[in-house]
Amino acid sequence: MRNSLNTIFIICSLLIFTLPLTAQISEGYQIATWKDFKEAAVTYTWDDNSANHLTVAQPLFDKYDFNTTFFVTTNFSPDWEGFQAAADMGHEVASHSMNHYDYTQMTEADRRHELEGSKSAINSKISGGQCLTFAYPYCNVGADNETDDYYLSARTCQGYIEKSTPDNMMQVSSIVCGSQGPVKTSIDFNNKVEEATPTKGWLVFLLHGIDNEQAFSPVDSGEFDAHLNYMDQNRDRLWVSTYSETVRYISERDHSNLTEIVFDDKEIVFQLTHQMDPNIFNLPITIKRKLPMAWEDVKVEQSNQLVNHQIIVDADTSYIVFDAIPNYGNVVISNQTVPNSNQDVSVIQNLKMFPNPVSSLLNIKFYLESSAEVKIEIKNVLGQKLLGQKLGVLGSGKQSSSIALNSIQENMVLVEVHIGEMVYYEKIILKKE
Ligand SMILES: [Zn+2]
Repeated sequence: MRNSLNTIFIICSLLIFTLPLTAQISEGYQIATWKDFKEAAVTYTWDDNSANHLTVAQPLFDKYDFNTTFFVTTNFSPDWEGFQAAADMGHEVASHSMNHYDYTQMTEADRRHELEGSKSAINSKISGGQCLTFAYPYCNVGADNETDDYYLSARTCQGYIEKSTPDNMMQVSSIVCGSQGPVKTSIDFNNKVEEATPTKGWLVFLLHGIDNEQAFSPVDSGEFDAHLNYMDQNRDRLWVSTYSETVRYISERDHSNLTEIVFDDKEIVFQLTHQMDPNIFNLPITIKRKLPMAWEDVKVEQSNQLVNHQIIVDADTSYIVFDAIPNYGNVVISNQTVPNSNQDVSVIQNLKMFPNPVSSLLNIKFYLESSAEVKIEIKNVLGQKLLGQKLGVLGSGKQSSSIALNSIQENMVLVEVHIGEMVYYEKIILKKE
């Protein structure tokens, strides 16, 4: 009896000390499974850097303003200039090893050499981003603990749709597309995407060639274009994101603590924090909170910057939905339900600045609710103006611009977008070549 009690005690202790720390979320809040509470995450990955990736595939993603992931084999003569241009557009350039060897047929030293060498090659060639993820050649898995030393996640191709949190980030499943796989036509792609929504899954497509080129299992660009058009039509419920962006979102969603520190009739304040590397895990994640009764209008700010929000009504309850960045200062939701307060009408949506860090050209994209005069100003952290660019009066809808920052000496600047009287800004890190 004493022995069995001891055994139980030991098992219980082990459980306590080996369980991962789960996130603590204050009551009344929910962190979205996927960005903007979308129904599924969809990632497109391209292996083996064949010629048409940059000339045929990338323009299709750019056309619909989606981002994709290129898993590059670094000793297969990648078009580094082309991949840099892709990275500047927000696409991910990640590793498909140096030499495309079979990881089940190599020594540990050789595997580590390939893992490390391909990552450092990409990091030295591509500025403004980091090589964070890996795809196994032939989908032949090496050793998780070795790959984990260099990458946040690794992709294989077991052929199933991943859960919203994969069981093993070092062996993430994908679906082979094109002539040699089960997904060939736009209808096949669309159906596969819809298969992912009931479980709020993560669907990773594995693509090689596109159209006529020397590459494995090509897809037809017309079919693929038709599929991306479908994704564009359904972008309010399907989240297209790069491989590393999805991995980072999952980690932040699962490991951030949300602690409410103030709740009175004027404001709600909370903190969103995690213990992971803030230089990597700094993507905005979507949060929903029940809105107190009688709060009809609110303003959301994080670190004193205005954050876009949406109020949704579900049955008799109102909720506020917005994005917040972990470890980026307090989030304040203030009650604006007072007469004549109309100065906080949101006039801009989906403001994106990338890459960040940036070495020279910063891309700025946003959606204007209505026509307005727009200018961009670059300021140092003391608020002194360094550069300015007037865009004039722009119409409503999607807008994009870019500004060269290579003349700036500072390590960090505030990039302000002035829409009429409103100012939206982001901190941008400058990377010196
Ligand atoms: Zn390959």
